[in-house]
Order: sequence, then C-alpha cells, then structure tokens
Amino acid sequence: MSTNTTSTTKTAGIHHITAFVRNPQQTTDFYAGVLGLRLVKKTINFDAPEVYHLYFGDDAGSPGTIITFFPWAESRKGRVGGGQVGITSYVVPVDAYSFWRERLVRLGVEVQETERFGEQYLQFTDPDGLRGEIVAREEGALSKWSFGGIEAENAIKGFGGAVLFSTEPALTGKLLQEVMGLEKVGEDAGYARFKSFGEIGNIIDVNVEAMAPGSGGSGTVHHIAWRAKDDAEHEVWRNHVANSGYQPTPIVDRQYFNAIYFREEGGILFEIATDPPGFAKDEEAAHLGEKLMLPEWYEKHRTEIEKMLLPFTVRELEGI
Ligand code: ZN
Repeated sequence: MSTNTTSTTKTAGIHHITAFVRNPQQTTDFYAGVLGLRLVKKTINFDAPEVYHLYFGDDAGSPGTIITFFPWAESRKGRVGGGQVGITSYVVPVDAYSFWRERLVRLGVEVQETERFGEQYLQFTDPDGLRGEIVAREEGALSKWSFGGIEAENAIKGFGGAVLFSTEPALTGKLLQEVMGLEKVGEDAGYARFKSFGEIGNIIDVNVEAMAPGSGGSGTVHHIAWRAKDDAEHEVWRNHVANSGYQPTPIVDRQYFNAIYFREEGGILFEIATDPPGFAKDEEAAHLGEKLMLPEWYEKHRTEIEKMLLPFTVRELEGI
C-alpha cells in the first residue's frame, strides 16, 4: 500500500444498506416481525415516487443500524453475485446468539451456522433471497427497541458489518483502506477483513478470489452507504473521493441525510451519507414510521402517490 494516498478522512463505518424487494408487507413481516427492527421511516423512492422507500433500524434509526428497501411487485428477480453487498451482518449482544438461533428456527427461517475469523455466524435468506447473518459481539450499544417477543437485551444492535462480493477484490480492499480509511486486520476462510473505527457497522469482509458479476433486481442489495459525520465533512469526502480517481455524484438531498454516490472498481455502488439530520426531522421520535412521509416537493401529489402504494402494517407474527 502506498503511503502518500493513505486516507486521513476515515468513515466510522456503514450508515445504511439499501436493497430491492417485491412486497412491503412481506418485507415488514421479516425485518420487523422476525428480526425485530423498528420501521423508522415510511417514505417513497425520491427518484421513483410510485415505489416505497422503507427504513428499518434501531429505535432512532441510528446510522449503522439502517436497512432500507424499495419494494416493487414487478421487479425482476436479481442474482446475488460480484459487484454487490453479498451478505448483510447484524450484530446482537454476546449472550443473545442462542436466543436468535432458537427464534429463527422456530419461525421457520432456515439457518446455516458458519465460522470465520473465530466468530460464529447464523446465516439466513429473507423471503426475496437477500442474504443476512447474525453475529454476537461485545461492542455496540444495546438497542432500546423491543418488539414481537424480543426484549431489548436480546435485540439486534445494528449492523455488525457486511460481506462485499467484489469482481476486483484487491482493488476494493485498496479503496477501503486508502480512501475510506479502514484497516486491514487479516484473512480467513476466503475473506479479507477490514475494520473501521466505529462500534457498529464496522467490520467488512471482502472475498479474496474475484467473483462473477451478479445482476440487480429483487433479492439483491443496491448500494452500501458509509458515514460522514456532518455536512462539512461530507464536502471533504466528495473532494477526497474525486481526488482519488472516482466520479462522485453531486451532493443529493435525501431528506434524512445528504448523499453522494460512486461506483468502485469491484462493481459495488458506494454512497457516503451524513449522520444528520436523521429520522426525527419530520416525525416525533415516539412516532417514527407511522405515517407516509413525503418531502415537500412531492406533498402536492400526495393523493396520487398514496393510490399507487400498497397498504401494509407493522404487525407481530402469530404464535411467537
Ligand atoms: Zn442510500
């Protein structure tokens, strides 16, 4: 690694991960009903207002906990592969691993147990084929959210990290270190591990052997977003990414954060998103996710937009 391009700008870790699915109720039943996450925002895809954008996370939708979805019934089925986040990792408290194994099995979710870097993983796929896994770790604050038979002491704390499936893993690894400011900590079981300084969303594994490209569609991740601490740092990030040879978009207002996007050499779409203002911007903290929230530029089309969206509810699963 050349030292003259080593990053002085460092991300704390993952801000959010965004994926394509087909049905809002099915997705809510899995991410709220099974995994116990909170729906913290019900809005629309600002680039396609006929599609929901659903955000799930901890009680506040803190950066590092947010998994988001674009549910679209007619979406073609994607294929998980190179150029994508392959597996999203959720972190639970150290004593909660067996709770989660038992819960997933009882709810009919097929699990596979695997090990890497000396850690035990419970791997599963969601109803659309998105791959997820649960890992237990000491670091990361306990969740304050309790839902569907999951006490806060067992609840998912946020992302443990992600497994990136790269078509050019050496270049993806170099980007993580030299541009994003992560540190390589080792290799095991066919993965290189990188770590950021945050307490959650901080451990990124990248396949060592190049992977054949996947294809986008339901059941695949669209992009992974990394944290910038505020708007000032976001400007620095944009220059830093551009000066490192990537082509970031202009800064886009995503209502709950500002965003830039760029594609890396391994095919994965990266976003850098600001921690502020967050999800309490337009709803009270106690009522996050309860109403369809629209940015003001779409408010005048609310009636037409609501007609295009399938109604769904956050509900506890039967027989938990
Ligand atoms: Zn995003």
